Amino acid sequence: METNSDVLIIGGGLAGLTAAIHLSQNNLKVTLIEKSSYPRHKVCGEYISNEILPYLRSLGINISELNPTKISKFEFSTNSGKTAKAQLPLGGFGISRYVLDDFLYQKALSNNCTIIKENVIDVSFSNDFFSATTANQMVTAKIVLGAFGKRSNVDQLLDRNFFHKKSPWLAVKGHYSGNLDNDVVALHNFKGGYCGVSKVEHNIINICYLADYATFKQYKNIEDYQQNVLYKNKHLKSVFENSSLLFDKPLTISQISFEKKQPVENHIIMIGDTAGLIHPLCGNGMAMAIHSAKIASELILAFYTDKIISRDQLEKKYIKEWNKHFGKRIFMGRILARILTNKAITNMFVSLVASYPKILPEIIKQTHGKPIPIN
Ligand SMILES: Cc1cc2nc3c(=O)[nH]c(=O)nc-3n(C[C@H](O)[C@H](O)[C@H](O)COP(=O)(O)OP(=O)(O)OC[C@H]3O[C@@H](n4cnc5c(N)ncnc54)[C@H](O)[C@@H]3O)c2cc1C
Repeated sequence: METNSDVLIIGGGLAGLTAAIHLSQNNLKVTLIEKSSYPRHKVCGEYISNEILPYLRSLGINISELNPTKISKFEFSTNSGKTAKAQLPLGGFGISRYVLDDFLYQKALSNNCTIIKENVIDVSFSNDFFSATTANQMVTAKIVLGAFGKRSNVDQLLDRNFFHKKSPWLAVKGHYSGNLDNDVVALHNFKGGYCGVSKVEHNIINICYLADYATFKQYKNIEDYQQNVLYKNKHLKSVFENSSLLFDKPLTISQISFEKKQPVENHIIMIGDTAGLIHPLCGNGMAMAIHSAKIASELILAFYTDKIISRDQLEKKYIKEWNKHFGKRIFMGRILARILTNKAITNMFVSLVASYPKILPEIIKQTHGKPIPIN
C-alpha cells in the first residue's frame, strides 16, 4: 500500500508523537511510523522538567489528567554515602512512559494522524521527495522527521558517524512498590555509573541506572551486579532493600551513545535523541525531545506557508535553533557525567556543594531550559 503525506515521522516516542500532534493540529497531513505498540514500558528515569508544561498545554495536552507526582527537590549521594540536597529551580513531575506515550498516541490518533505500526526498513531521498518503506507499506513525503531515538536501524541505514563508535553504556530500569518521599528525585552514584530514584503516578517508584559495560560484565546477572556494586552506596542499598520489583524482571538496553550527532542528515530533520542524547543524570532528555519537536514543527509550518522559501533555508534554520537551545546543555551534561563518574572529583564536588549549597541549583540550571515560550 502507498500513502502520500506532507510530513512523515519515523519513530513514535515523545519527540515523534509531539510533532505529530503539533503538525496535524495545523492541518498538515501527517503519517507516523512506529515499530512497537502502545502502551509499552521504556528504559527511562521518567522525571520530566516543568519547562515543557506551557507548550503541552498549548497543544491541548493536560498532564494533570494523568496524576503525575509533583517533584520539587533534588538529592545527590556519592558512593561513600555523602549527600547534597537542593530545591529544583523549576521543578518537574514523574510520569511513566507507559502512560505518557500512550496518552500522546491517543491524542495523535484523535487528530487524524495516520499511524502505521511497522518497522521502517528503508528511507531514500530523490527529486526533492522522500520515500520510506516497511514490510507492507510505502510512504512518500516532502518532509521527513527522524524521531527514531538513541539508536536505530535507520541510523545504520544512514551510515551515521556515531554508529561506528564504541557505546560502552547500558541502562537498567524497574518499577517498584515501597516507601519514598513523593517530592524528591534522587541521583545516587556508584562505581561506574549512577542511579535515579523518583516516583511516577500511583505511588510507583522508578529506579533506573546507567552503568558502564566493562564493570557490569564482571558479574553473572543484574541481581549480583546490584548487590556487589550499587549496594556499596548505603542510600541505594536502603532503596533497593525497602522496595519490591513490580516487573517480572528489570528492563535493559545497551550500546547507549553520547557521541555528537547532526540535527539534519540526508535532508532528514532529526528531533529528540536522534539529534543528540544528553546524559540522563541531567534528567532533561524528555523535555528536550518535546522542545525539539516544537522547534521543528514551527519551522515546517513556516515552510508550508511559504514563510521559509526553500528546503535549504529550512535545514539551516533548524540547525541554528537546535544548537542555540541544546548545544550548551548537552556539553554541560558531558562535563557533569565526567565529574560524577570519577570518585575523587565527585567527593570534592559534594564537599564543595555542602559548603556552598547555592551552587547546586545553579549547576542544574545549566542543563535545564527555561519554560518554553508560546507564540
Ligand atoms: C537510563 C536513562 C534514563 C533516562 N532518564 C530520563 C529522565 O529521568 N528524564 C528525562 O527527561 N530523560 C531521561 N532520559 C532520556 C529520555 O529517555 C530520552 O531523551 C527520550 O526518551 C527521547 O525521546 P525520543 O522520542 O527522542 O526517543 P524514544 O522515546 O526512544 O522514541 C523513539 C521511537 O522510535 C521507534 N523506532 C526506532 N527505530 C524505528 C524504525 N526503524 N521504525 C519505526 N520506529 C522506530 C522506537 O520504537 C521508539 O518508540 C533517560 C535516558 C536513559 C538512557
